[in-house]
Amino acid sequence: MSKKAPVQKNDYIDEAVFEDLTHDGNGVTKVDGYPLFVPNALPGEEGRVKVVKTSKGYGFGRLSERTKDSPFRQEPPCPIYRECGGCQIQHMTYEGQLEAKEKNVKAVMQRIGKLHDLHVHPVLGMEEPWRYRNKAQVPVGEKDGRFVAGFYQKRSHEIIDMDKCIIQYEKNDEVIQHVKEVCEKLEVRPYDEKNHKGTLRHIMTRTAYTTGEVMVVLVTRTPELPHKKAIVDALIENIEGLKSVVHNVNSKRTNVIMGDTTRVLWGEEVIHDYIGDVKFAISARSFYQVNPEQTKVLYDKALEYADLQGEETVIDAYCGIGTISLFLAQKAKKVYGVEIVPQAIEDAKQNAELNGMANVEFKAGPAEVVIPDWYKEGIKADVLVVDPPRKGCDEALLNTILAMKPKRVVYVSCNPATLARDLRILEDGGYKTAEVQPVDMFPQTMHCEAVAKIELVE
Ligand code: SAH
Repeated sequence: MSKKAPVQKNDYIDEAVFEDLTHDGNGVTKVDGYPLFVPNALPGEEGRVKVVKTSKGYGFGRLSERTKDSPFRQEPPCPIYRECGGCQIQHMTYEGQLEAKEKNVKAVMQRIGKLHDLHVHPVLGMEEPWRYRNKAQVPVGEKDGRFVAGFYQKRSHEIIDMDKCIIQYEKNDEVIQHVKEVCEKLEVRPYDEKNHKGTLRHIMTRTAYTTGEVMVVLVTRTPELPHKKAIVDALIENIEGLKSVVHNVNSKRTNVIMGDTTRVLWGEEVIHDYIGDVKFAISARSFYQVNPEQTKVLYDKALEYADLQGEETVIDAYCGIGTISLFLAQKAKKVYGVEIVPQAIEDAKQNAELNGMANVEFKAGPAEVVIPDWYKEGIKADVLVVDPPRKGCDEALLNTILAMKPKRVVYVSCNPATLARDLRILEDGGYKTAEVQPVDMFPQTMHCEAVAKIELVE
C-alpha cells in the first residue's frame, strides 16, 4: 500500500509529532499517513522537520528544531557517537531503549505474525549497559601522514582515529592502543585502501569474559609482517593476560576483514571462555557471541523453554560452534547440531571433546537439507532449537518441523520480523507460541534478540 508523497523535497513540516523508532534508530513522523524517517528524533518528541528526500511509500527528513523532548532523551555519552554510527540510540536512556525494543517486538508480532494474544515479556537488559563487547576489530590507515586506527566514518570509507569505544571492554581499548603504538613506532606501514598498498589492514582483539585471556590478531595485506619479533615482544611486555598473537594475511581488495592464511606468531592458537559451566575454545576465525554476559541470559532462557528432563533427543539447527548444543547437552539424552560453515562444525566437535560430552553429534550442511535427511533416517527430535541468521528459517526446514512434530520448538532470533513470520507458519501448522522473551544483547544499538517457546497443540 505505497502512497504517493504528500510532501516535496525542501518542504517544512511545522508541527511534526514522532510516534515510532525504526530498526536503524530514526524517528518516524507521518504526514497524512506517509512516513518520514528523521534522524535524532525519539517517540513522543515534536518539532520542525525539513523534507530532504521523498520516494514512493516513504521519505527522509531532518530535524531543524525540536519543540518537545522525550523524557528518555539524554546527551550521548560517547564523544564520537554521531560520526561513528556503530551505536544508534545513545541519545536515549537505557530505560527508554528497553521500552522501545519491547514495543518493537510486540508490534511486529501483531503486524507480521498476526499473534494478537501473545505474551511478550519486558526485555531482559543489562545492569551496566556499557563496556560489554568482548571483541574489537579496527581498520588501520593513514590520515595526514599519521597512523590512524579506529572506525569508518558513517557512510564513508574514511578512517577516524579512536582511543576508546565505550561499548568495548576497557581491556580491548587498551590492547588496541598498545598495538597501534608499537606498530607506529616500528614504522609498519598502514594499509592504503585506495591504492591497495601498505601492510597493516586491521587489528582485532578478543578478551575472554570469564578467564581474561587475550588474543591479538594482526591482519596484513602482505604475506609477511615486518618486525614481528619486536611487535610480539612489546605486546608480551605490555598486555596482561595475553595468550595468543596471530597473523592473518588478506591480500585481496575486499571489505571482508580476514583472509585465508592464519598463523600463530606467539602463544596458543585459541583462547578459552566459559558460558555457565561449558568451556569453549575460540580461534581467530571462530564466530563467538560478542556479549557473553547476556549470552548466558539468552541461553538460560532457551534451556528453560526447552524444559529438558534428561531423556530427550534435541536438534540444534544453525548451531555455529555448538554453543547452544553443548549448553543443552548438559540436560538432554542426545543433541544433534547442524551448521552450514564446516570450520564452525570442526570447532563444535572440539568443544564437545573439551567438555567430555559424548552425547552430541555435529554435521556440516544446510539445516534445511540435513534435518529432512535425519528425519528420513528415523531421527526425531522431542525438542528442536533454531537460531537462524537475520533472514530467519528456510521454509523447507519449517515444513520438516511440521512433519516431524517435536513437542517443543525453541526459536532464538536476532530479527523479530522474521521470527514473527516463522511463528505464523508454525501456528498455522498446529503449534502455539506460549511466550516470547526479548533479551538485550546489544545495548545502545537497535538490535534485539528474542527467544520464543512454541508448543505442539495435541
Ligand atoms: N547458535 C549459534 C550461532 C547462531 S548465528 C550461537 O549462538 O553462537 C546463525 C548461524 O547459522 C551461523 O553460524 C551461520 O553460519 C549459520 N547458518 C546460516 N545459514 C544456515 C543454513 N542454511 N543452515 C545451517 N546453518 C546456517
